[in-house]
Amino acid sequence: VSGGGWLLDTPATGVYLYPDQCEAVVHGLSRALTALLGGHVKQSLRAPPVIARSVIERVEYDKSFPHLLGTVTTRGIASDLVLLPAGCYCVYPLYADARLSAVDEVSVEATCFRQEATAEAGRLRSFRMREFVRLDNDDGCRSWRDRCLDVVCDWLGELGLATETAVASDPFFGSGNRLMRGLQMDQKLKFEVLTTVAPGLTQAVASGNCHKDQFGKLFSITDATGDAAHTACVAFGYERLVLALTHQHGDDLRRWPEPVRKALSLAAAL
Ligand code: AMP
Ligand code: ZN
Repeated sequence: VSGGGWLLDTPATGVYLYPDQCEAVVHGLSRALTALLGGHVKQSLRAPPVIARSVIERVEYDKSFPHLLGTVTTRGIASDLVLLPAGCYCVYPLYADARLSAVDEVSVEATCFRQEATAEAGRLRSFRMREFVRLDNDDGCRSWRDRCLDVVCDWLGELGLATETAVASDPFFGSGNRLMRGLQMDQKLKFEVLTTVAPGLTQAVASGNCHKDQFGKLFSITDATGDAAHTACVAFGYERLVLALTHQHGDDLRRWPEPVRKALSLAAAL
């Protein structure tokens, strides 16, 4: 993708190998995000690239995004697993049928798969996502999401990345979901943080999402008052962040600005 050997092509479009220098930056981003947003995290999880099909059916991802979902088959027969499309789907089942006594936050790092229709720099099919998930009431989720987005934009600025924040919607499948898309936009449920990841190419490197009580209802999670819990998540795409940083600071890691190197805890040898 980028000239300097940051993401190495494979025979599959949108699937890359990550050399050491890429991993050093991903590791630095991971640590920095933990410091930035992990202060109240109760559990920090690493998710595998697959998830129970039953979870994905419960959240109706297979109905909303059938074009993006990858499934696991063995000997031509569909198994009980699908490829994980986003990190936070791992989190809700942990709370199924639970009654929350207080606000909860979970961090999850996942390898995700989406069968993207187009291949361009930064649009991968297999990519890594870091998410922070909050379980709270409606106001709590919204103000947490907005606070996180402010903090994230400041942090990206310190990393030398100019950002824009925009209201967004998930690309719901089919025209029947235009209504949902409109609702999502009107209620400002999804914000994306956009930056330049390659010459002339702007993409979302992070998103902040309020799900209202959708997952609380689907997984029977209640808050202390007995109402369905609300949830929100803030998600980051590691590869896109790496591309944005190489676009901004160049392919030679040793020549990145010292404050950026420091913020990413890069060892002197790199
Ligand atoms: P989303 O759930 O679509 O808001 O995705 C969360 C974050 O994951 C986005 O802001 C991106 O940084 C990253 N992401 C989503 N899709 C891709 C993709 N196809 N390739 C690389 N990163 C992605
Ligand atoms: Zn999420």
